[in-house]
Amino acid sequence: MKVPDKIRTNCPKCKKHTQHKVRQARKGKEKRMNWGRRQYERVKAGYGGSPRTPKKPVFKIGKRTVLLLECGECNKKRQKVYSARTKKTVEVGK
Ligand SMILES: [Zn+2]
Repeated sequence: MKVPDKIRTNCPKCKKHTQHKVRQARKGKEKRMNWGRRQYERVKAGYGGSPRTPKKPVFKIGKRTVLLLECGECNKKRQKVYSARTKKTVEVGK
């Protein structure tokens, strides 16, 4: 999947359409003990076993890509979820 490296779209800070640079956003670091992790550890404790043992074969679904848009006028950055699910990685600027 290919995405242009420059998009003209609305900037919430400038409150108008401006030219944006597009990059692929890097995934943020997960917190060491976030709520989901604590819940998972609590469920997994004892003899119950893992709650996420797959009972049926899991179909592989492509992931949505998060793009990083940078405004050309005010350099404000924001993230936007690219709506299509793709199995291949998204190429920016090709
Ligand atoms: Zn702007």
